[in-house]
Amino acid sequence: MPWRTTDDPFAIWVSEVMLQQTQVRTVIPYYRRFLKAFPNPLVLAQATQQEVLKLWEGLGYYARARNLHRAAQKIAAQYGGTVPGRYEVLKTLPGIGDYIAAAVASIAFGEPCAVVDGNVKRVLARFQLIDTPVNEPKAMKRFKERAEAFLDRSNPGRFNQAMMELGALVCTPSHPKCPDCPLNPTCRAVKEKAVHEYPKRIKKARIPEYHVAAGIVWKDKKVLITRRKPEGLLGGLWEFPGGKILKGEAPSEACVREIKEEVNLIVSAKERIARVRHAYTHFKIVLDVFRCAYVSGRVKLKGPVDFRWIRLHETEKFPFPGANRKFFPLIKIPAEGV
Ligand code: SF4
Repeated sequence: MPWRTTDDPFAIWVSEVMLQQTQVRTVIPYYRRFLKAFPNPLVLAQATQQEVLKLWEGLGYYARARNLHRAAQKIAAQYGGTVPGRYEVLKTLPGIGDYIAAAVASIAFGEPCAVVDGNVKRVLARFQLIDTPVNEPKAMKRFKERAEAFLDRSNPGRFNQAMMELGALVCTPSHPKCPDCPLNPTCRAVKEKAVHEYPKRIKKARIPEYHVAAGIVWKDKKVLITRRKPEGLLGGLWEFPGGKILKGEAPSEACVREIKEEVNLIVSAKERIARVRHAYTHFKIVLDVFRCAYVSGRVKLKGPVDFRWIRLHETEKFPFPGANRKFFPLIKIPAEGV
C-alpha cells in the first residue's frame, strides 16, 4: 500500500491489525503515532496497557490493541523481540488469526500463504461465481482454498496486496469498475452479467439497540471516572459510571441507580446534558448523559476496577470510548461549582 512503505514485519503487522474493520484513511494517523511511540515489539512490550489504549483511543475494537500488546510481550519473552517469520508460529500469538498471520508471513517474509479478507472474498466470488455466502461460517475455508489455488507462489506478498487492493479500489461493493479491471477478460460474473448478484450474503438479524444512562458526578469541582475491567467490550478504558436502563425506568432514575450499584455513591441527577447514539459491531446504544451532584457515600467498586476524581481537563490523559468522547464538549463546570 502506498502509505505503508516498509517491509518491517512489525509495521506490517500493526497496520494489518489496525485495518481490520477500519478504513485506510482513518488508520494512517493512528499507525504513524503508534509506530513513533512503539517502533518495535520490545518497546511495545514495556508500555503499560493504558499507554497502548490511549494511542488507540477512537480507533475502536480495543481488543485489537490489548492483543497486540500481549503478543509483543510474548515476542519479547520468547523470541528475543523479533517477530517470528512463519505463518504457523504467528498464529500462536494473541489476536493473530489466519488473516494477519498470512498477511505478515507473505508480505514481510515471502511465505506462500493466501490472504483472505472481505475484499478478496468479493473479488473471488465474482471472478469465479462462488455461491457460498461470504458471511456464513464455512465461507472462510472455501474462499481460502480458492485463494491458495490462485496464489502466485513466487511473489505471494505482492499478489496478496494486489488482490486486496483490487477489491478495495476496483471490484468495489456497489460500483465495480469492470472495464478497468485486469481480470475482466476471464471474469465469470462479467460473462454471465451477474456482477451485482455477487457476493452472496445471508441476511443478518437486525442488531439490537440498548438505552443506557451515564452520570457526570461532580464533587469539589472534580468529576468521577471509572475504569472497566481489562478484558471484554471496551476493556481497560475509562468512562463515566452508568449502565442499562431497565424496562419502565426513567433514564435519570437508571443513572442514579447504576451509580449506586457500580460505585456505591448516592447522587442526584440534575439535568440531561446530552443524548448520544453510537454503534458497536453487534449492537447500538442510545446514551443519556446527566449532570449529577454528589450527595453522600464513599466509592466502593462493583464492576469497575479503578476510579479517579479528576478535573475536567484531565480527561485528556485517560483513554475513553468513542461514545464518551462524543459528549465531552457538552460537559460544563456547573455554576454552583459542585
Ligand atoms: S471484472 Fe468486475 S466483477 Fe470481475 S473481478 Fe473485475 S471488477 Fe470484479
